[in-house]
Amino acid sequence: MSHAPLEPGSTIGILGGGQLGRMLATAGAELGFDVHVFDPEPECPAARVATRAWAAPWNDAGAVEGFAARCDAVTFEFENVPVETVAIASRVSQLRPGARSLELTQDRVVEKSFINEAGINTVPFAPVSDLTELHEAVAMIGLPAVLKTRRFGYDGKGQAWIRAHTDIETAWKAIGEQPAILEGAARFVRELSVVAARGLDGTVKAYPMGENVHGDGILKTTTAPAPRLTGQTQARALEIADAIGGGLDHVGVFAVELFELETGELLVNEIAPRVHNTGHWTQDGCACSQFEQHMRAVAGWPLGDAAPHSSAVMTNLIGHDADDWAALSADPGVRLHLYGKRQTRDGRKMGHVNRLGPLA
Ligand code: AMP
Repeated sequence: MSHAPLEPGSTIGILGGGQLGRMLATAGAELGFDVHVFDPEPECPAARVATRAWAAPWNDAGAVEGFAARCDAVTFEFENVPVETVAIASRVSQLRPGARSLELTQDRVVEKSFINEAGINTVPFAPVSDLTELHEAVAMIGLPAVLKTRRFGYDGKGQAWIRAHTDIETAWKAIGEQPAILEGAARFVRELSVVAARGLDGTVKAYPMGENVHGDGILKTTTAPAPRLTGQTQARALEIADAIGGGLDHVGVFAVELFELETGELLVNEIAPRVHNTGHWTQDGCACSQFEQHMRAVAGWPLGDAAPHSSAVMTNLIGHDADDWAALSADPGVRLHLYGKRQTRDGRKMGHVNRLGPLA
């Protein structure tokens, strides 16, 4: 793999054209790169800001190959890109981050095992492949517990809580009777996340942790830097980011979602090997946003400064929340970001706002 930095004017490809791809493409353009986007949906949010959009199914090997051949480096904006697509991209171009970051985070059992092997705690868990194994897992882990599909879960989808033994069969049916993981319930006081980047040279820089509030499985707000953080918790979060970034041999931004327990202990919930919704506050709270940071890493450039100049509260605009755009755009205390999605649907992320304040 070449470690020479990509020069301005080089082409960076993004697999996936949602809002994350759109914000990455914009950040890439600001650094002087051409950005090509590959997504099955021609009208996807990133296609309309990219230098070139490639619209083809993920399994169209010829199209993926043609796209990758035009790119000096290829990255991705979501972790469920099919492994075969990624394999083509890594053969034809430089894939950053590499396939390892995807392989270790696409499957919740593989991911949690990797985290534990890196010396970091998670909730207790057990793989489940049928109803008998689910009963055994409940006996081992206890209740309440949450049953999740091993793969392709996002925003709380593919999950069912089991609070009593009578819920077991319903939960198994609810997740579609597919390979799953049973997790013990974390008794957390709050949810935090650390968004960090690892450069091509192995340097890791982390943004201050954010405190996250979810509703119906979807992120509602991130407050950053998270209030009431002890030096010990911050130091542990950095250790976790270092161990995970290094263990994945990652290049680019990644996020680690954490549960903070009453004792101050941090458990890792999951890893996103990409830019993350809980890092959107960095667009307005830091000189170098997570999107610029990712494109810097992919290009083999030095990482930017991850220190904040302001505190921020990021609020997602979900579904019809975005209908308030006119009032939000008139509020001088608000930085409005809209994703240009053609259709508003309940539960769909349409944009977000950042409200800035002084650093504590
Ligand atoms: P996930 O898709 O794993 O990020 O889960 C979505 C949300 O469900 C998390 O942000 C938590 O609020 C909650 N959750 C997931 N897993 C657990 C768990 N093992 N214990 C407690 N809450 C959980």
